[in-house]
Amino acid sequence: GSFMEGTEQAPPDPILGVSDAFKASTSPDKLNLGVGAYRTEELQPYVLEVVKKAEAIMMEKAENKEYLPIDGLPAFKKCTAELLLGADSSIIAENKIATLQSLSGTGSLRIGAAYINAWLPGKTVYLSNPTWGNHKNIFADAGVEWKMYRYFDPETVGLDFAGMMEDIKGAPDGSIIVLHGCAHNPTGVDPTKEQWEEIASLCQEKGHLPFFDVAYQGFASGSLEEDAFAPRMFAEKGLEFLCSQSYSKNLGLYGERVGAINAVVNDAAVATRVASQMKRQARAMYSNPPVHGARIVSEVVGDEDMFNEWKAEMEMMSGRIKSVRGKLYDYLCEKMPEKDWSFVTRQIGMFSFTGLTPAQVENMTNKWEVYMTKDGRISLAGLSAAKAEYLADAIVDSIK
Ligand code: PLP
Repeated sequence: GSFMEGTEQAPPDPILGVSDAFKASTSPDKLNLGVGAYRTEELQPYVLEVVKKAEAIMMEKAENKEYLPIDGLPAFKKCTAELLLGADSSIIAENKIATLQSLSGTGSLRIGAAYINAWLPGKTVYLSNPTWGNHKNIFADAGVEWKMYRYFDPETVGLDFAGMMEDIKGAPDGSIIVLHGCAHNPTGVDPTKEQWEEIASLCQEKGHLPFFDVAYQGFASGSLEEDAFAPRMFAEKGLEFLCSQSYSKNLGLYGERVGAINAVVNDAAVATRVASQMKRQARAMYSNPPVHGARIVSEVVGDEDMFNEWKAEMEMMSGRIKSVRGKLYDYLCEKMPEKDWSFVTRQIGMFSFTGLTPAQVENMTNKWEVYMTKDGRISLAGLSAAKAEYLADAIVDSIK
């Protein structure tokens, strides 16, 4: 027998498992709408032009491969905090922010969770229902208890704002509330600016600590500033919060694992201590973060022309997604006019939450070779204009 005999088989990952099934299929019609990764109209992965430019500059500089500091590349840390709060933020000027470069959004959330477990013991984290599938495991594995607050209303295919506010109010004072900064995954449903103001006031009233997950800055509206509305407004109101950032989607750096965890703190001395503890956590977990992606971000943001080029490419990517949303909506209306499809164009970001049941999703995959997660989410970043009608046919066939 094996020393490790008692090991049980883990279930396949609900999102990445979809990609494996897609790869295994030999059908020419197959469509992967599972993972949230941007594809071109030809359904190919896309490396941003501005990333190639930055890499060419980096090749020329021929920098060494020495370890980064535990908390990452200093130039990157400056860029990422400024992208979050704005270059003119008084919080940055007054050193009331702790920033640690980490392993993209996931690793940054994991450091945040480890920090909560060690230094905010006994606090419960509240997640939106539904939320990105990995959130629960990230917090649970770090030893942090999580619960859910109401978020999505299947009736309206929109936000259950009253339920959300009631649950945040009902949470014990001083809880931790995880909020998607923009382009909520999986629903594509975000609060309005007025609703964000109310959420901020309620968190203030209750002494809650918000924890923003910012994985799609620039991808929702096409504008970095617009998509940072919520965390910037919370900061202006004087709220303290945690915030993870990812450059997987907006700069297409998925496999480079570049992101950050930030703590906005109302006392610079406390921010210094929080930073020291996040470094301690990172040192024991993976020692220090990868250098390549951090250099790319710093090159791009540090040069005005490249920064503008990045913004244009983000607009192009979010624009392509908006345009396939429109195409899909038109075909759905044409093929099944009795149903209200307006949610397709109302939802923002990469995803659409279709309301398809698990049995209907099975039909999508088994009969139509459309690969998607069981919760009925489709990634529109993986759809082309040319395939929009095919997808509409598959959806209409699955729900009727
Ligand atoms: N948070 C949310 C809501 C996400 O959707 C994702 C990616 O799908 C992430 C975090 C983390 O992604 P990554 O670790 O690639 O930055």
